[in-house]
Amino acid sequence: MFDNTEIAFSHLSDKELKKAWWLFKAINVNFLVETGPSLVNLALKLKLPILPLIRSTIFSHFCGGETIEDCEDNIAHLWAYRVGTILDYSVEQEKTEAAFDQTAAEIIATIRRARGDEKVPFSVFKITGIARFELLAKLDAGQALSPDEEEEFRKAKQRVYRICEESVLAGTPVLIDAEQSWIQETIDRLAMEMMARFNKESALVFNTYQLYRKDALGKLKKDLETAAERGFYLGAKLVRGAYLEKERQRAEELGYESPLHETKADTDRDFDAAVAWCIDRIDRVSFIAGTHNEASCRKLAERMKEKGLSPDDRRIWFAQLLGMSDNISFNLSHHGYQVAKYVPYGPVKAVLPYLFRRAHENTGISGQMSRELRLITEELHRRKKSRSR
Ligand SMILES: Cc1cc2nc3c(=O)[nH]c(=O)nc-3n(C[C@H](O)[C@H](O)[C@H](O)COP(=O)(O)OP(=O)(O)OC[C@H]3O[C@@H](n4cnc5c(N)ncnc54)[C@H](O)[C@@H]3O)c2cc1C
Repeated sequence: MFDNTEIAFSHLSDKELKKAWWLFKAINVNFLVETGPSLVNLALKLKLPILPLIRSTIFSHFCGGETIEDCEDNIAHLWAYRVGTILDYSVEQEKTEAAFDQTAAEIIATIRRARGDEKVPFSVFKITGIARFELLAKLDAGQALSPDEEEEFRKAKQRVYRICEESVLAGTPVLIDAEQSWIQETIDRLAMEMMARFNKESALVFNTYQLYRKDALGKLKKDLETAAERGFYLGAKLVRGAYLEKERQRAEELGYESPLHETKADTDRDFDAAVAWCIDRIDRVSFIAGTHNEASCRKLAERMKEKGLSPDDRRIWFAQLLGMSDNISFNLSHHGYQVAKYVPYGPVKAVLPYLFRRAHENTGISGQMSRELRLITEELHRRKKSRSR
């Protein structure tokens, strides 16, 4: 299903496809990706005009724009192929209460934009966008908070509550992203509290399960049980997990056992088992498979068929990131499945960490082409051949 590059890239003109080819060609070079972040930071320090170049290349490929309005073209463009948009305000590493309030307001603006519009089927946020990382880590470690910190956490919780409440008002589900393991228990507790409060009739708040964690599958099962016992619906975004290197490095430095699986095969096994577990209990859970893994997407589609679930069942979604795995997104939507893309946005400078991660992910391994580059190359050849016929 995912080999059809004609469907995968039909949303891109020849010019856009060639631009994407050059971008992935550059990203494929390991050296450029490794040195890129330092060079960009140096250029910024020297006040060199680097941002326009970034805006017209990597930013325009992986991001919707700097504001919600900038993303409108992308929203319409994706929807022309029945692919939904999840507006993802991607400003990271904020530290002040004022910045957290501002981010919460922006997230609420994304929820209002999504209201009543099937083109924008979900909203999303990260708890660290609206609460201080160190505070969450302290809570996770079970350390006592000072009175000021208690107050700080009360405010953070209020922001989470406001965002979830706004989602309920809009009737648009909201996804809570998963983050580093040493703050995740606090995030999970908040998410369960919100789900118990707001998911009485359907899943409107979703937590994220990172299946690279040894305990994630067990946790998902337990949360589903709790949801059934307490009479609410579980919302689950299933992902493999994005912090592999950081997690391993920290575990090694501090000398504790890594919470992550030892091998990729173990992660893959648990991811597919989590999908199967949810499908088998679909009366109690709505879920999103947030993945670029073709085998996992194929298995999910097959399992839906086996269970007699329609591809457009509103409880089951596939999601990918803008600018990546179009072969999965567009082929799935072509076959009637529910698909949405994260569309990150924010000021160029503020989304640089996000862009560096995307570049890193798409680097070629041992001189080979990355999957994206291979697929784009195939489609360019196909178009050339079909024209010369
Ligand atoms: C829509 C969407 C939403 C996302 N939201 C989140 C989120 O909230 N939180 C988050 O952490 N991530 C999130 N991610 C990122 C995700 O967790 C993965 O990092 C990314 O999608 C790559 O995994 P994959 O399933 O696409 O496919 P693959 O490329 O098949 O898998 C790569 C992943 O496998 C795992 N892995 C690789 N090597 C090993 C190893 N040796 N041992 C054990 N595991 C290994 C890692 O998780 C790695 O990222 C999201 C991704 C998408 C598409």
